[in-house]
Amino acid sequence: MKKLVLIILLFAGILGVHTAYGRQIRIDTKLPAGNIIVEKMIGDTVYVKPDLRDTEGDWFYWAMRVRGAQGKTLTFKFPHACVGVRGAVVSKDHGKTFFFAGNENRYWYSFTFTFGPKDRDVFFYECHPYLLADWERFAKSLDKNYFREDVLCLSKEGKKVPFATIASQDVDYKHRVVISARHHCSETIASFVMEGIAKGFMANDDTGRWLRDNVELSLVPFIDYDGAQRGDQGKNRKPHDHNRDYTDFLYPETKALTELWMDKKPEIILDLHCPWIYGELNNEHVYSPLGDPTITPDAKAEDRFFHLVEAEAKGLPYKVSGNIPFGTNWNTNQNYAQGLSSLQWARLNASGAKVCCCFEIPFANASGTEVNPESAREFGEGLAAAIADYFRGN
Ligand SMILES: [Zn+2]
Repeated sequence: MKKLVLIILLFAGILGVHTAYGRQIRIDTKLPAGNIIVEKMIGDTVYVKPDLRDTEGDWFYWAMRVRGAQGKTLTFKFPHACVGVRGAVVSKDHGKTFFFAGNENRYWYSFTFTFGPKDRDVFFYECHPYLLADWERFAKSLDKNYFREDVLCLSKEGKKVPFATIASQDVDYKHRVVISARHHCSETIASFVMEGIAKGFMANDDTGRWLRDNVELSLVPFIDYDGAQRGDQGKNRKPHDHNRDYTDFLYPETKALTELWMDKKPEIILDLHCPWIYGELNNEHVYSPLGDPTITPDAKAEDRFFHLVEAEAKGLPYKVSGNIPFGTNWNTNQNYAQGLSSLQWARLNASGAKVCCCFEIPFANASGTEVNPESAREFGEGLAAAIADYFRGN
């Protein structure tokens, strides 16, 4: 293959490179939730890294657009582990559809991609993106007799942070559930699970009908709203991230979520997350990091709920035995030194809440099953069924 000759390099981290035969390869962040710094290109190897912005230490979210590379094979090299278990997530149609590039020519620190003759403009992501437009598209598809959209609060940037309820107008609900996602904005798989839960509540089947008649569901799809739209890492944001903000309340969304809990008095509070990028021990199976038993409001109720989730799990496998007990692994008090997490605050303060738990849903691999938008949504539908079982006393 002809070697690429570098004429122009590095303009604010965005690369434009003329090849020996005049074509220009351009790499930029002009895609939804874009995030990349291009350092240099040597031959067919592009040295890139995630734009950490205000993150303390390294993190692995990135998203880039590559144009003008049709017919070429390029290797993208990162300074640390940034390539997921099934390879980069690729879109050749400007974000309409996505696929995993796969494991061939993939290492944790790099991947090689062969651009087809028509691949003039390709999006690459660390994980499947999910922004406001995705939420709005989903919201539009739901029956407005039950699905109501509202505003939780204004974000730091003054944007309306969405909040939605699934409930009938004329029912005085006994059971309430509040579910949040994206405390860490780059943990996008959480959003597909949330869609699945909503889908389960809206389904035209026995479970869906029972849920709509008996349980009021509140959904907060973006706790770090601005970060999710900008393509920030979110995790380990300085001085602390959104899920360590329940002591200081620096971010409007966290305060608003506590007010929602106080207003709704939900019996079940769920918070959806994704773990680290890879590693079979903690990052490639669905699990819940269990709360400190001294502040867990009702350990029996929580344990019953986990078993129902295991029984109803679909799309992605989940086993109660995979949960991480408090005091083990990363799940220790030390992990919360910067401030209370959302669930710690809920366990201490949300009266009436019996089940306050988090699910960690991997980015690409869950015990051997591929994690993608479809399987994550399906897992969410199983969670909805478990919520129905819980309240029905099954
Ligand atoms: Zn998280």
